[in-house]
Amino acid sequence: MKVTIVGAGNVGATCADILAYREVSNEVVLVDIKEGLSEGKSLDIFQKSSINLYDTKTIGSTNDFSLTKDSNVVVITSGLPRKPGMSRDDLIGTNAKIVQSVTENIVKYSPDCILIIVSNPLDVMTYQAHLSSKFPRERIMGMAGILDTARFKAFISYELNVSTKDIQALLLGGHGDTMVPLPRYTTVSGIPVTELIDDKKLQKIIERTKFGGGELVKLMGTSAWYAPGSAAAQMVEAIVKDQKRIFPVCVKLEGEYGISDCYLGVPVVLGSNGIEKVIELKLNPEERESLAESRNHVKEVMSVLENL
Ligand code: NAD
Repeated sequence: MKVTIVGAGNVGATCADILAYREVSNEVVLVDIKEGLSEGKSLDIFQKSSINLYDTKTIGSTNDFSLTKDSNVVVITSGLPRKPGMSRDDLIGTNAKIVQSVTENIVKYSPDCILIIVSNPLDVMTYQAHLSSKFPRERIMGMAGILDTARFKAFISYELNVSTKDIQALLLGGHGDTMVPLPRYTTVSGIPVTELIDDKKLQKIIERTKFGGGELVKLMGTSAWYAPGSAAAQMVEAIVKDQKRIFPVCVKLEGEYGISDCYLGVPVVLGSNGIEKVIELKLNPEERESLAESRNHVKEVMSVLENL
């Protein structure tokens, strides 16, 4: 199995490191536009293989996409991250061009690959990659939901002083302030979280989750990478190992939840064919309304892209 990661920056290199360490594929190719960056990081990751005990080969490439030929899965992380004061949507102009050119190059050498987009604004960059690749929806998706639920789980864990391992959570919608965390579908070892945390505290946790990315941008001056890189690697692993995992993933909705032609995060089954099933939850009126709001926001940004 061969996995390519485009963008050897913070998120891309973290993802490559985890894939190598976990021996998810035999080969990981890192591509970046910055001369030497991907070669250096690939070499560094390979040089620790004898310490961390793995056999994955990591290969770097400065913009030579021929090295990515016949990749099974490709993760696109190339693009600007946010700086303090910016919203993800502010990145659209620059990142759309980058995602477009990178996707075209990837498709040239790996027409049958499965594409995972990470660049922001996430839902709309997934749409951009769809426009540039013309891939069916099964093979094109965006990473956001795993990260956003991981943040939700972390904050619940702090509140209850329990392991994050025992928390199951779900959220829907776009990767932004309109995301829709679902306490009704969140449990701690099977116990509904609503029985463990009172509504006021839970609402605070939900708000912190929605702005979880911004909290880190403010602290570090750039966006996060450990959790995003890990989340993208978890999606790659589910596909490469045909694990049939259920994750919230950004996918093109085709009538599910009463929504068409919009890229939004919903639970899906991930396996060797990519998105093998979109799971439709029975939402209550309040959740349905929040999802509609999120959909309207993503649609607005999609139309900005169409008019660029
Ligand atoms: P970074 O600046 O550390 O890395 C981005 C890399 O992309 C740089 O090394 C840059 O040289 C490279 N690049 C730019 N144009 C390129 C091109 N045409 N071809 C190949 N490489 C190119 O940024 P980062 O922190 O790794 O974040 C990357 C992207 O992921 C950003 O858009 C960020 O907003 C996004 N992000 C998304 C999520 C999510 O949940 N979906 C989470 C975190 C970050």
